[in-house]
Amino acid sequence: MIGHTELAKRFGTPSYVYDLDRVRAARRDLLAALPDEVHLFYAAKANPHPDVLREMRGDGGRGCRAEISSVGELAAVLTAGFSGADILYTGPGKTAEELTEALAKGVRLFSVESPGDLRRVGEAAGRLGVTADCLLRVNSVSASTATSIRMTGVPSQFGFDSETLADLREKVSDVPGTTIAGLHFFPLSNAADEASLIAEFRHTIEKAAELQEQLGIRFRFVDIGGGFSAPYAAGGERPVYGELREALAATLDTHFPRWRDGGPRIALESGRYLVGDSGTLLVGVVNIKESRGRRFVILDGGINTFGGMSGLGRILPVSVLPNESAPGAGDPAMLVGPLCTPGDVLGRDVVLADPAPGDLLTIPNAGAYGVTASLLMFLGRPAPTEVVVRGPDVVSASRIDHIRTYAYGQAPR
Ligand SMILES: *Cc1c(COP(=O)(O)O)cnc(C)c1O
Repeated sequence: MIGHTELAKRFGTPSYVYDLDRVRAARRDLLAALPDEVHLFYAAKANPHPDVLREMRGDGGRGCRAEISSVGELAAVLTAGFSGADILYTGPGKTAEELTEALAKGVRLFSVESPGDLRRVGEAAGRLGVTADCLLRVNSVSASTATSIRMTGVPSQFGFDSETLADLREKVSDVPGTTIAGLHFFPLSNAADEASLIAEFRHTIEKAAELQEQLGIRFRFVDIGGGFSAPYAAGGERPVYGELREALAATLDTHFPRWRDGGPRIALESGRYLVGDSGTLLVGVVNIKESRGRRFVILDGGINTFGGMSGLGRILPVSVLPNESAPGAGDPAMLVGPLCTPGDVLGRDVVLADPAPGDLLTIPNAGAYGVTASLLMFLGRPAPTEVVVRGPDVVSASRIDHIRTYAYGQAPR
């Protein structure tokens, strides 16, 4: 392991360090916690860095497939070596252009969110003379589960309402260019504990079997979603799911007796569990300031670097806890970034031993929803550097750049 201080010196701050050995460990642990027969999709949005994607694919052993939702992510996963056949394409606003591109690149599996979405997938497939396998995404009224991010059971742009899906049987089963391969569920993110995760999967599997009955379609593929949790920008370890494998197998045996032979193939998905603990965010202290009895530790990276999307309420709130924090010692400080908005706060009431300009803070478990879930463009600061290591070796160091391209006119000279 190369020291963070050395990496910060070499590549500057703010920067992320991703350790591919930890990505591999998370992938192996999660796959080991699931029955051998299931497929696992990596949600590229959690961290689409090319080296991370490549590691997720695996090397000969069991790897992940890729779940994507844009042509940007499509290009990223194809570059990382995934094939069209590895990909599940999701999202409520898929356009004819992006569908055509995905189909042309060999993608055949789509999660569809509405009758209009299904029709559009079919039209794009028809134009290319191929057939798309579609999973009807289900917005199901769920079992009560302790979770921080619930996705379904309310009016939503995502999925077909479970209670009226069967009424659409005719409408969905005969759309040219498509076949209904099965269902896609994603009821929650970041489950509180293994028991609630298992309860949610049980509920989902029961629901899937019920809908198979009602729709009268023999499913070939059912994606039962995720909810695997990970610590976020504070200390802690990835959970170990010791019961899940047996519990899933038992529930599947009950409701889909032929699931081990692919009748239907069962898939699950994860973002944060697979990458969260691989990443560390390095930020430098620029200034310390007192105001009306409060201490502000001003950093060289804020919500432009980490967690900027959390204001939307759909990713976890930002509340970073640097490794350097010292419980109980000294005055609590506000950790703020350099942006010209009072919203640029990374942490409140963080106790640091004796912060001074030039100090390096390391924020653990920052590998998921980091760079690309931040306000990268706001105030025009450079994106953070992303350093990829594998154990003691630096693999790459790079940065996303913003460039303006003109569709009309040109830059003033
Ligand atoms: C975001 C997303 C995921 C990943 O969620 P995590 O909480 O990071 O595991 C998986 N599936 C779908 C459909 C998503 O939108």
